[in-house]
Amino acid sequence: MQKHADFSEFTVITPSADISVSRHGGRAKCLQRLLRLEMPVPRTVALSFDAVHRIAAGQIPDITPILAEFGPAPLVSVRPSSEDPDWGGPGAILNIGMNAVRHRELAETIGQAAADLIYLRFIQAYAIHVARLDPDQFDAEEASEVTIHEALLAYEEETDEAFPQDPVVQLTEVLRAMARSWEGTTARLLRQAKGAPADAGLGLVVQEMSMGLGPAESGSGVIQFVDSATGQSQVTGRYLSQSQGREGLSGEGVLYLTRDARGRSLEEHCPEVFQELLKWGEISRQRLREEMEIEFTIEAGALRVLDAVRVNRTSRAAVRIAVALAEDWIIPREEAIARIEPRALTELLHSQVDPRGKRDCFVKGIAASPGAATGRIVFTSAAAQASAARGEACILVRRETTPEDIRGMYAACAVLTERGGMTSHAAVIARGLGLPCIVGASGMSLDRRTKSLRTAEGRVFREGDIITVDGSSGQALAGEVKMLKPALDSAFTSLLRWAEDLCDIGIRANADTPADAQTARNFGAEGIGLCRTEHMFFEDDRLTVMREMIFANTPEDRASALDQLLPMQRMDFIQLFEIMQGQPVCIRLFDPPLHEFLPHSRDGLRELAGALGLPLSDVTRRVEALTEFNPMLGMRGVRLGITVPEIYDMQARAIFEATVEASERGDPVVPEIMIPLVSAKREVELVKTRIDAVAAAVRTEKGRAFDYRLGVMVETPRAALRAGEIAHHAAFLSFGTNDLTQMTYGLSRDDAGRFMGIYVQQGVFPEDPFHTLDVEGVGELLHIGAERGRAARPDVVLSVCGEHGGNPESIAFCRKAGFDYVSCSPFRVPVARLAAAQLNLQMTVRNRR
Ligand code: PEP
Ligand code: MG
Repeated sequence: MQKHADFSEFTVITPSADISVSRHGGRAKCLQRLLRLEMPVPRTVALSFDAVHRIAAGQIPDITPILAEFGPAPLVSVRPSSEDPDWGGPGAILNIGMNAVRHRELAETIGQAAADLIYLRFIQAYAIHVARLDPDQFDAEEASEVTIHEALLAYEEETDEAFPQDPVVQLTEVLRAMARSWEGTTARLLRQAKGAPADAGLGLVVQEMSMGLGPAESGSGVIQFVDSATGQSQVTGRYLSQSQGREGLSGEGVLYLTRDARGRSLEEHCPEVFQELLKWGEISRQRLREEMEIEFTIEAGALRVLDAVRVNRTSRAAVRIAVALAEDWIIPREEAIARIEPRALTELLHSQVDPRGKRDCFVKGIAASPGAATGRIVFTSAAAQASAARGEACILVRRETTPEDIRGMYAACAVLTERGGMTSHAAVIARGLGLPCIVGASGMSLDRRTKSLRTAEGRVFREGDIITVDGSSGQALAGEVKMLKPALDSAFTSLLRWAEDLCDIGIRANADTPADAQTARNFGAEGIGLCRTEHMFFEDDRLTVMREMIFANTPEDRASALDQLLPMQRMDFIQLFEIMQGQPVCIRLFDPPLHEFLPHSRDGLRELAGALGLPLSDVTRRVEALTEFNPMLGMRGVRLGITVPEIYDMQARAIFEATVEASERGDPVVPEIMIPLVSAKREVELVKTRIDAVAAAVRTEKGRAFDYRLGVMVETPRAALRAGEIAHHAAFLSFGTNDLTQMTYGLSRDDAGRFMGIYVQQGVFPEDPFHTLDVEGVGELLHIGAERGRAARPDVVLSVCGEHGGNPESIAFCRKAGFDYVSCSPFRVPVARLAAAQLNLQMTVRNRR
C-alpha cells in the first residue's frame, strides 16, 4: 500500500477561493477570473507549486478526495499552470479515468466510435507521456475495439503490467509524470532561457472533461479576437466537430470561425455559440484587460470554456494590442508602456527585403518569424557560435532545431529549417528572440557529410555561401539582397510619444551622416550625441584629398588639402544642423589614426603613388612610417589634434561656418564640439585655445555672433580620474564606454571576440562587457568621473555615448547616476526611450509605496 503524504494543498477553483499566481500559477488564476466573469468553465481543482514539488519528490498525495470533487466515475484532464505561461510546462493530458468500464458506458451514451476514440487517445497519451514508451508503438489514428486491444497489449508487453484501470492510479501517475518533467534539466534550461528563475514552481489544474464528442453537435476549438502577427482586430481560430483538446487546430474537417471564402464556418454552423463566444471575448478584453485566446468545447450544443490564455503575439502585435487597450481606456497609458519589453521593439524595426529588388528564391517555407537577414550558411550550432565569435553574420540551416540549438540560434542572425511548422521549436524560439526564421522548407534536403543543401531543382548551397532569409514571406534567397528600412506604424508612434512624456533622461543618437540623422529624428532622438566625423572622409572624392593631406610635405601643401576638405565638411554640418532643426548636435573632432586612411595592399599603394605623382618606394616608406605597433593606443584622437593641429582647425572652421549659415536659414544653432581620447587637462587647454581662436576669426569674418560648447570625451581611465580638472575647461563630459571598457580591461575591442565566448561561458565575465556595461569596474570609473566633474563644475552635462548607451541596463545605471542623456545608434533610440520610461514608472511606483 502506498503511503500518502499529508496532503491538503488542492483547492477547488471558485470565484472566492484562495488562488494566487504566485502559488498556483497563471492558468489556475485565469480560470478563477473566468469563473468570476461567469463563463461556463467546468469544475476545476488547482494543485499548488508546493504540492507539485512534493509530488516530484515522491510524496504522493491522497488522490481520492481530488477525484471525489468531480462526482462518481469522472473523466478529467490535467494541465500545467506555471507562474508565467511563456515558461512552458508539460502538455495537457485528457480523459484520465478512462477504463474498460467507462468505455462500455460511454459507448451507450455517446456512441461506440466516440467512446473508442476517447479510450484509444487516453491509452496513447498515457503510454507516451506517463509510462514514457516509444510513440511509434502507439501511433494508430483510427480507433476501434481492435486497435484499443492492440494498444493495451503493446502497453502490457512494454511495461509487464496491465494498463491501469483504477482512475486513482491513473491520476496519481499523470501528476507524478508532469511534476517530474517540470523538474527535468531540459525543461529547466528552456524556461530559464525565457527568464524563469531556477526555482520556478509548477502548479497543475485538474478539470472535469467536457466531451466534445457525441451525437448532438459537439467539438472543440480556439478563438481569438486579434491577429497574432499584426495585433489588428480580427476573429481567428478553428473549430472541429467531434474533437477534444487542441485537435480542433488541425486536421480534416476543420471549420474557420467567421464566414469567408474558405468554406463553411462556425458562424454559420452554430450561430448562437459563435455569438456567445464574441460576447465572452469582449467581456474578457474589458475585464481581464488583455486579448485572450479562448479554448472551448461545444458539448451537445452547449458552450464550455476550458481555458483562456494571453493571445500569442509578435512584438508588433504586442505594441498594437497594448496601445489599443489604452486608447479604449481599458488600461492606462503607463500600463501600455510597462507591458512592452523594450528590446522587443527591435522586431518592429527589422529590415525587410525590398519588394522592388530582384529575388532569387531557392526554397520556400513557412514564414515563421518576421524580418530579413543575410549571412553565411552554417549547418550546426557550434559553427554558428564560431561564426558569431568571428563577428560574421550567419544563417543557421537545420533539418529542425532542438533545445540544444538554443545557443546556435542566439548566435545566428536568421534560421532556416527543412521541417517544422508555426509552433515547432525553431519557430517558437526564433519569434521569441526576434530572429527572422523560415521553417518547413521541405523543398530542400541537407547533407551533413558534405555540409551542403540541395534544392528540389538540384541547386546546391554549401557552408559559407551567402543567403538571405526573408522571415516575413517565407522565402530563402540566394546571395545578398536589397533591404528596406522598417516602417513605423501608428501604434508604435503613439507608444513612443507616451514614453517620451515619461522619459526623464535625454536620449540622443549617434549619427554620422545626414541619413543617420534623419533616422534619428524619425525615431524621436533629442539630438545627436556623437557624430564621428572621420566617417565623412571615407567617401571616394574625399579620400584622395585626405591622403594628399596626410602626405603633404609642407604646411602650405597641407593647408591646400585641408582647404579642399573644408567646404565638404561645412556642407556635412549644414545638413546635420538643418535635419536636427535646432536640436543639439555634438560633433567629435577627428579620432582615428591617420594610417587607417591609407592603402595597405601593393595594388592600393601603386594606385596611390599614381594619384599623388610620387614614386612607389616613397609612398611605401611613408605608409610604413605611419604604421604603429598599437594604433588604438597610438597617435589618434586629441594626440593627433595636438600634433597636426591644422586638422582640428579646419573642422572647427567648418562647424562654425556651418553654424552661421544654418542659423541664418533656420533655428539658431549652438554646436557642441567634443575632443576625443583625452587623458590630460593640458590637452584640452591646447585644443580649446585654438578652437576659441577659430571661433573668434569666423565671428569677425562673418560679422555674426554665435555660441558653441566645448566638451571632452572621457574614454581613458585617466580622464575619468582627472575629470575634476578637465571639467574646468569642458561644458560637458561624454563617456565613451567603448574605449573606456577597452582600456579599463586592457582588452582589445577588435580582438576580444576570439575568446569572449569562452570567457562568458566559463563565467570569467558575466557578459561581454562591450555589450553590457561592466557596472562594477567601468561603472565605478563613470561614477568617479561624474562625481569629480560635477564637484568642479556643477553644471557640467554628463552623458554616455558608447554602444552601451542604448542598452536598458546601462540606461538604468545612467539614470541612477544622474546623467543627463545617453546616446546610441538611431535604431536603438526607441528601445532606450521605452526602457527609460519604464524605469521612471518603476521608480514612481516604488516611491508611492
Ligand atoms: C567610445 O569609445 O565609446 C566611442 C563612442 O567612440 P568610438 O567607438 O568611435 O571609439
Ligand atoms: Mg572611442
